[in-house]
Amino acid sequence: MKYIGAHVSASGGVDQAVLRAHEIEATAFALFTKNQRQWRAAPLSKEVIAAFRNACEKYHYSAAQILPHDSFLINLGHPQEEALEKSRLAFIDELQRCEQLGLTLLNFHPGSHLQQIDEDACLKRIAESVNVALDKTQGVTAVIENTAGQGSNLGFRFEHLAAIIDGVEDKSRIGVCIDTCHAFAGGYDLRTEEDCVKTFEEFGRVVGFEYLRGMHLNDAKSAFASRVDRHHSLGEGNIGNTVFSWLMKDARFDGIPLILETVNPDIWKDEIAWLKSQQV
Ligand SMILES: [Zn+2]
Ligand SMILES: [Zn+2]
Repeated sequence: MKYIGAHVSASGGVDQAVLRAHEIEATAFALFTKNQRQWRAAPLSKEVIAAFRNACEKYHYSAAQILPHDSFLINLGHPQEEALEKSRLAFIDELQRCEQLGLTLLNFHPGSHLQQIDEDACLKRIAESVNVALDKTQGVTAVIENTAGQGSNLGFRFEHLAAIIDGVEDKSRIGVCIDTCHAFAGGYDLRTEEDCVKTFEEFGRVVGFEYLRGMHLNDAKSAFASRVDRHHSLGEGNIGNTVFSWLMKDARFDGIPLILETVNPDIWKDEIAWLKSQQV
């Protein structure tokens, strides 16, 4: 069974995200549980938590269908101690918010070395940050997203994801989310079926499908291997429709949230309907 949806807005409260997902006939969704551009957020109130849980029950979304995304400010590989500590505390808060909402996954961007430490040292820091955060929380899996490799962001090679997993003590609570736009911009071709087979064979070999907890389905405005992160609507970018149609027919992508972060929310409903139609 494929869970297909989009990263919907949570403005007006996290419970509103559930309604928005339902309106576009999504069977999965992503959301921010706080403003993604601010460090601080008010704690979730009992009322908001109850409203979110009730909405999920009413519209039939289980935790397996929901992939919350953390704040863009967090850098779990930050080279400077004080800033690293700030990011770790914010990440723990994000995991706790997920716990309160009954969610079991938290999607995060690995981190950036900011040209101050080498890649290996940064990847070790990220793994240690995850260890610290998992130790302080329960029941939520930290889901590393591959990146386009813009600036000094790590996570654009499958080897980076594998290195972080390697450094995480509790392997049952670490996973990955593959963003198709980021993979393509990072140098993994997805334009033809042969490219898809080859890229995901490499993913299986380097990371392993047992760690796959979600996917972001985005076409790319950016060019192949450009290391530039620019999403596009499905079929309108440089990747094209083939990969999305291919993914829908492959059982290795069953049972995990498949999330659109495409640029035009007005057509999400159509994109979801098209994805569903590609399953057979
Ligand atoms: Zn992301
Ligand atoms: Zn993404």
